[in-house]
Amino acid sequence: MTTYVFDFAEGNKDQKDLLGGKGANLAEMTNLGLPVPPGFTITTEACKAYLSTGSAPDELAGQVCEHLAALEKAMGKKLGDPTDPLLVSVRSGAKFSMPGMMETVLNVGLNDESVQGLARQADNERFAQDSYRRLLQMFGKTVLDIDGELFESAIEDAKSAKGVQADVDLDADDLRGLVEKFKQIIHDQTGRDFPQDPREQMDLATYAVFQSWNSPRAILYRRQERIPADLGTAVNIVAMVFGNLGADSGTGVAFTRDPSTGMRGIYGDYLQNAQGEDVVAGVRNTVPLADLEKIDKKSYDQLLEIMSTLENHYQDLCDIEFTIERGNLWMLQTRVGKRTAAAAFRIATALIDEGLIDRDEALRRVTGDQLAQLMFPRFGDRSDGKKLTKGMNASPGAAVGKVVFDSPTAVRMAHDGEKVILVRRETNPDDLNGMIAAEGILTSRGGKTSHAAVVARGMGKTCVCGAEELDVDTKGKKLTAPDGTVVSEGDVISIDGSTGDVFLGEVAVTDSPVVEYFEGTLKEEDDLVQAVDKIITHADGVRRLGIRTNADNGEDAARARRFGATGIGLCRTEHMFLGERRQHVERLILADGKEEREAALAELLPLQRGDFVEIFEAMDGLPVTVRLLDPPLHEFLPDLTDLSVRVAIAEEQGKSNEKDRKLLDAVRRLHEQNPMLGLRGVRLGIVIPGLFAMQVRAIAEAAAERRKAGGDPHAEIMIPLVGAVQELELIRDETEKVLATVAEEQSVELDMSIGTMIELPRAALTAGQIAGAADFFSFGTNDLTQTAWGFSRDDVEAAFFARYLEGGIFGVSPFESLDVEGVGRLVRIATEEGRAARPDLKLGICGEHGGDPASVHFFHEVGLDYVSCSPFRVPVARLEGGRAAVL
Ligand code: PEP
Ligand code: MG
Repeated sequence: MTTYVFDFAEGNKDQKDLLGGKGANLAEMTNLGLPVPPGFTITTEACKAYLSTGSAPDELAGQVCEHLAALEKAMGKKLGDPTDPLLVSVRSGAKFSMPGMMETVLNVGLNDESVQGLARQADNERFAQDSYRRLLQMFGKTVLDIDGELFESAIEDAKSAKGVQADVDLDADDLRGLVEKFKQIIHDQTGRDFPQDPREQMDLATYAVFQSWNSPRAILYRRQERIPADLGTAVNIVAMVFGNLGADSGTGVAFTRDPSTGMRGIYGDYLQNAQGEDVVAGVRNTVPLADLEKIDKKSYDQLLEIMSTLENHYQDLCDIEFTIERGNLWMLQTRVGKRTAAAAFRIATALIDEGLIDRDEALRRVTGDQLAQLMFPRFGDRSDGKKLTKGMNASPGAAVGKVVFDSPTAVRMAHDGEKVILVRRETNPDDLNGMIAAEGILTSRGGKTSHAAVVARGMGKTCVCGAEELDVDTKGKKLTAPDGTVVSEGDVISIDGSTGDVFLGEVAVTDSPVVEYFEGTLKEEDDLVQAVDKIITHADGVRRLGIRTNADNGEDAARARRFGATGIGLCRTEHMFLGERRQHVERLILADGKEEREAALAELLPLQRGDFVEIFEAMDGLPVTVRLLDPPLHEFLPDLTDLSVRVAIAEEQGKSNEKDRKLLDAVRRLHEQNPMLGLRGVRLGIVIPGLFAMQVRAIAEAAAERRKAGGDPHAEIMIPLVGAVQELELIRDETEKVLATVAEEQSVELDMSIGTMIELPRAALTAGQIAGAADFFSFGTNDLTQTAWGFSRDDVEAAFFARYLEGGIFGVSPFESLDVEGVGRLVRIATEEGRAARPDLKLGICGEHGGDPASVHFFHEVGLDYVSCSPFRVPVARLEGGRAAVL
């Protein structure tokens, strides 16, 4: 028999797969002896069974009965008992917290009779009616799927009928009226009455939690965050404690450290006489947690003690939800809290300093994506914008865009290529699409624990929240600043998530301090920079993978070197034939016979040599892998249509031009249906005599020049797009001859290694043979992805990837993160067979995947010697290379 239900005392924090995050942590807190209301967890296995068969597994009802009976015994009350009811909350809780999951239903067990019992027991009629109306409202909205606005506006009507502002000003009679109204809404909207049977309420809420696993919002979020779709959610049934019993009660949320900076302190919000979502929903203004000391010192002190227990136990920042019931503190939830990228680095190093974790663990706790976020630019000179107001710095970064006031508009405009800032009074889960589409999010209400703040931090999106001076009118699509400035939809604003500043107009952005640190222009004074320095230094120490860069000019090479690259893994030479030099390539292509061809090559030679001298100088002492010309030749020639038109017009006007006509012939001759699969790479070197030889000569002469100038160049020559060892052998022979000639001419020794890219499936599958003619392999995973999948890297992302991502065919573009199962298998085969044939074969990767965190872990695991990525990704690759070694 499968066990589908566990008491809190039976679980622990490592059982998130089975008990969900909330259930596992409630169990952990229970076993730590913290004041957690008793309860039990229905497992994710029950959810999976429910979702696959459409009904709960047979054993579930009986197991729930047993645990409910135990809970009733512990509490000395029966669920929904008319004289003294036990009430419970029903809470969803998946392994990962995600938007779209069913919100908590509180006060389950109340009905027309037990509400009387509750009133008598608490000696508080108002409290009992308030609890009942909350159950009807939450149950109606979340379990029965009734539009929440209907309940909200009934409350608004009740308040305005009475002429009061706040929900606490409604008395027992008003609330009794609302209860009747809510029951009517439920009847009208569903055609049946609110279920009076407490157990039926509990079961319906449980199934609604199961179903919410497949809500569109949850599905969208999982896809975005690459969370597997088959985990399912757990359900927690928890004995109610009440924060709405009067001024000596209340509810709050807190962090053990500041989630945006990582600083220690008291961070949280508290609301007196309130329950559940009241704190984050903004029904009334919360007070800062520190104020609780004045309100209820005993609970406050106990809370601080618990928070420190939790930090020491989890050895990490925790966020918590708590309720105070008539002076008694109860813990309703804890988890390792979401945090900004900066906070992740600061917290990890603070925990090292406090002796709670070691350096390896600190390295595991930060990610390359977080480091990349810290390298985002920020606002520099702010005088370009007019400061409108300052809100809370909820999620860092600098975002500039056109103001929009609703999610559909944000999505539509972003789709049209506009940058937008989503401005809302407060966000709710319905805004998720808009938040994804926007550059940044600005709200006028809510604190650092509001929905906007939490979700934006999770997404790494810039967010300013609680900018209370702004009057946001979403219906009228405008906001008004305190000085009267009106900003309408489409106007540009700039928001600074690190300071909370909001500006009208576009503010220019500058480098982040972390980039300045990598550049070497900022020393480690800033505490964030210190944290990054400490962790990346450790990553470098434990890393096995080498980190090189893709660079084809001295400037990029020098920057990458400052960023920590120890060589160039890919120097593409095609950029060296553009601009003014195009004319020489044209001459080469049009050349009539050997003499003209050699003349064109002779023009190119010194230019190429100059390029290499600059690069070898920037990378002095470190390896530089130069790839011989790769792209199809048409890329250097005029467009076929343009040229045809030009020639036709010229002929029409009797001004026909011999050169253009010859050029047109050549363009026609070289025109290919599938140029990426055509005359390119090593094929060019074989077909166009002298081209590769000229490039090799330029490399060799540049190396000789540097050597004579006292430098230490380490060139490696790389042949692209090889599919058969014979291709490589031909070019290798030619290359060795040129090297020997130049060595003799210049009287220097030139021992350069000669290798190839592995970027065709055939090359990967015959890697054992190819290794016979190669000193090194560098995986060109861009072309390897293109050729393994059979889709054009230039066309498909726009053409159909969106549909593929939606359909879950892949969770992320295989051009962005390596397709480990397919393309990765080719890499593995080539690695194993290449090394078997030639144990000293050097192996690297230079496709875009070299800077992608998940791919870097794969390249580490498969045993490559280095990854090569764009200069700006070098720090990310260093960090992830280190993480791969300790994970
Ligand atoms: C590759 O194919 O992965 C590669 C690095 O070469 P390019 O992107 O220049 O084709
Ligand atoms: Mg390639």
